[in-house]
Amino acid sequence: TLRRAQDELVQAGKLAAIGQMSTSIAHELNQPLAALRTLSGNTVRFLERGALDTASANLKTINELIDRMGRITASLRSFARRGDDQGEANLGKAVDATFQILGSRLETLPLTVHRHFSSAQLQIDQTRLEQILVNLMGNALDAMQAQPAPELWLEGDVADGKYRLRVRDNGHGIDPETRKHLFEPFFTTKPGEQGLGLGLTLSASLAAATGGNLAVEHPASGGTAFVLSLPLASPQQVESK
Ligand code: ADP
Repeated sequence: TLRRAQDELVQAGKLAAIGQMSTSIAHELNQPLAALRTLSGNTVRFLERGALDTASANLKTINELIDRMGRITASLRSFARRGDDQGEANLGKAVDATFQILGSRLETLPLTVHRHFSSAQLQIDQTRLEQILVNLMGNALDAMQAQPAPELWLEGDVADGKYRLRVRDNGHGIDPETRKHLFEPFFTTKPGEQGLGLGLTLSASLAAATGGNLAVEHPASGGTAFVLSLPLASPQQVESK
């Protein structure tokens, strides 16, 4: 009876989460849809009047909105996919791949990187780990745009049988009001089309799916640190650094 009650609670929790998620998704997709409707209606009128420049500018905006909707659904697909929770990832390889993905953004930033972690084998799919790191390091780069001497620390250690990777930056930090909403879906402080507000929600969810978690710290010295804890592939592998 107890087990059945627990199962029902889990099920109810899942349904509540789906309800909450659906509301946010509907909201996020309805905004561009409403804009698309107005824009396409106007474009027809501009074409009829022969105002081709305005019509083509509108079509460009329509393309951008469609891309944005595509990015939202693509992120959510990876959120829903639960098939490959069993894989193994190499941390060093994932960090290298992340720098490669962020490559073009690093060219314009005089970034100093401090690598203080071992190349641990972790219990998470390789692509998923890279997805998390791209989100965390991408956010760090965004936060350091106005920093004349941007620095990124990647510090690893082992705690409670899990590998802990701290991704710390010396960016603008996070103000107390923003801190409350960091892990909410679609919460972003980035202007215009820059932020979807899904990065931290997705990363935390991917970490949780493997028995790990994602937390945030606000160092007294400034900047922000995200701490990613993931189970080690073989728990006896406990060298730190
Ligand atoms: P997005 O990057 O699309 O805004 P995220 O979920 O990744 O969505 O991040 C949500 C918000 O958290 C960001 O808009 C930003 O305000 C804040 N944030 C995340 N990482 C950092 C960081 N390293 N430094 C400062 N603020 C951050």
